Amino acid sequence: MKTKSVKKQKVNIVTLGCSKNIVDSEVLYSQLKANYIDVEHESANDDADIVVINTCGFIDNAKQESVDTILRYIDAKKEGLVSKVYVTGCLSQRYKSDLQKEIPEVDEYFGTMHLPQLLAVLGADYKHELIGERSLTTPKHYAYLKISEGCDRPCSFCAIPIMRGGHLSKPIEELVTETKNLVKSGTKELLLIAQDSTYYGLDIYKERKLADLLKSLSDIDGVDWIRLHYAYPSQFPLEVLDVMRERSNICKYIDMPLQHISDTMLKLMRRGITKNRTQELVDTVREKVPEITFRTTLIAGHPGETEKDFEELLRFVEQNKFERLGVFGYSHEEGTHSYSMQDSITAEEKEERIAQLMELQQDISASINQSKIGKTLKVLFDRKEGDYFIGRTEADSPEVDNEVLVKANHYVRIGDFADIRITHAEEFDLYGEPISL
Ligand code: SF4
Repeated sequence: MKTKSVKKQKVNIVTLGCSKNIVDSEVLYSQLKANYIDVEHESANDDADIVVINTCGFIDNAKQESVDTILRYIDAKKEGLVSKVYVTGCLSQRYKSDLQKEIPEVDEYFGTMHLPQLLAVLGADYKHELIGERSLTTPKHYAYLKISEGCDRPCSFCAIPIMRGGHLSKPIEELVTETKNLVKSGTKELLLIAQDSTYYGLDIYKERKLADLLKSLSDIDGVDWIRLHYAYPSQFPLEVLDVMRERSNICKYIDMPLQHISDTMLKLMRRGITKNRTQELVDTVREKVPEITFRTTLIAGHPGETEKDFEELLRFVEQNKFERLGVFGYSHEEGTHSYSMQDSITAEEKEERIAQLMELQQDISASINQSKIGKTLKVLFDRKEGDYFIGRTEADSPEVDNEVLVKANHYVRIGDFADIRITHAEEFDLYGEPISL
């Protein structure tokens, strides 16, 4: 790492992993600012002398990235460029004692629920009055809204409940306050996130309350787009689809990880749903919300997955033509139920199955995109990159979905909507020009 001027008592927050970690880092960021501590998120010139790494402990690759990041800052500490390195987040929650042994140079490790303790070592007090307030690390026109923490589901392959604990919903009033504050700071698009968003309310209201929450958020002036992520298929609250259809500011978009389709695998994965009921649900979603963009994620190579199971999965994707699809290779995670099974499918075989699914999806996405040519779509612009302004339609969530590219000789405003006529389509991205400004 190059020599540089280091600012004393300045904190740099580094975030790894998912959108839920981004929200946790944003909360930490706001708390430090409210304590008049000089803080930056992912500082470009890395000039802070105190670093807080918010880690991910989900699957192998993510864990490796977290460890590499910790080691990078430990090297900086050895070079005298950093004085303190603190580690928090899921990897730290899950492997604290191992990490303390293997990387003792870290000043302190914190779990996912230890914000007050982390603030204390940074010389800050936890400010309760800040609940519902957050400094965004995303472009201010969109924000993640974490509606609950933890998960009560028994999915066999998943270590998240080990790291995040049981399901805990945030009260509707708190989320409404948080959203009003976000809108005041310029947020137009709200991305609802959780480990399992459809479980919302079952703990604090003793009933599923996602539909009511969506209504309350949709009633707030200034919210143009509300996007639903991490919907769980089993016992899916169908009333959510009615609210989605009826409210113009709720995106006709659903992210519902299905993980697999063969009955054998759904049973082994402890997903609490069958092939037929999954297909019924997918059909019902499409019936109740025509034009919906259905995003799903699948796991390839879970222990016990036979060629026949995988063929079934390929047929399922072919028949259902999901607008957006992500595929993960199974990761053998200690402490999960699947860990007691033999991880018999080789890494090469897993890669091969992922490639087959993504190849199929590439064709599906290409033909869906072709059908957009000549259409006018409402696009929210996120950034300018090279010769293009880059934005997203209602069908695209940030970071994970497709994008719309508009030549920079046209005038569009970052953080604003514009009507774009689609002129060209590729497998995943669309190209177009503004119709009127
Ligand atoms: S729903 Fe299943 S996969 Fe998702 S976080 Fe909970 S246990 Fe993990």
